[in-house]
Amino acid sequence: MPLFVGPYEKMRIFYTRSKLENFCKESQGRLSFVPTMGALHDGHMKLVQAAKKEGSLVLVSIFINPKQFNNLNDLDKYPVNLIGDLSLLKQNEVDAVFIPTANDVYSEDTNSNVELPNVASVWEGAFREGHFQGVVDVLSSFYHLIKPKQVFFGQKDLQQCMVVGEMMNTYFPNIEFNMVPTHREKSGLAYSSRNERLSEEGRNTASQIFKSLNSLKNNFNESCLSEERKKITKAGIEIEYLEKISLPEMQVDRSCSNQGAIIFAGYLEGVRLIDNILF
Ligand code: AMP
Repeated sequence: MPLFVGPYEKMRIFYTRSKLENFCKESQGRLSFVPTMGALHDGHMKLVQAAKKEGSLVLVSIFINPKQFNNLNDLDKYPVNLIGDLSLLKQNEVDAVFIPTANDVYSEDTNSNVELPNVASVWEGAFREGHFQGVVDVLSSFYHLIKPKQVFFGQKDLQQCMVVGEMMNTYFPNIEFNMVPTHREKSGLAYSSRNERLSEEGRNTASQIFKSLNSLKNNFNESCLSEERKKITKAGIEIEYLEKISLPEMQVDRSCSNQGAIIFAGYLEGVRLIDNILF
């Protein structure tokens, strides 16, 4: 039973595959798709705005994909704000929203046999076992159903962009992939649904991450890297990784070349934060 049809009459809201299927058939060839897990913020809206610029119909999905969580505690604590999400999407004049259940996304006929590219085995792939398989499985299910013209992802999840971009080259070469730059708060902290779980003080502390990324981008060598690691740790953030890497392979590259990216993952107040900066 659709809950929010009344106040959002212009924006279509679909709760089942079968209802969405008709909409997708009617709009085939014109759909720009933005997959999300909800608890939407201004960073997500940058993706919506980029999708809208193309003049196509914008479809946003809200689905907390259980398959991509390696940690049940993280899944349990993942923020949910459906009413706020729908209001934000309406303000941004999104054409349609898809809010499926796990049963609808993972029915027998949507089993994906998508193999992960090598770049999925390092960093997030190593620290969050099964994460990227969950990501490509849900996207494969969505793409078969929606058949979008193009899709939009955030640079905030750089490795996700690398993994998804490569899997799309192999399995969905007709769908256009777009990466949108990371949107940040004034302090430099990247917008993230997980920031909601940080205290005011934690948000201030977390701004050290971007300061360090920026500083390493401007001047990279091994001693600067260990200096920035110390600063982040001293601020109270537990580092999982802070490293300079090559792209698109995402292998460690400690050379002083102005190529690749600096990537970060770590914990603050029990919240896992990731960020990156491109050279
Ligand atoms: P999520 O809901 O966290 O799965 O994110 C959905 C999409 O929004 C992903 O492609 C993210 O990379 C993107 N995204 C999340 N935060 C930001 C941000 N601060 N700037 C740009 N894109 C973002």
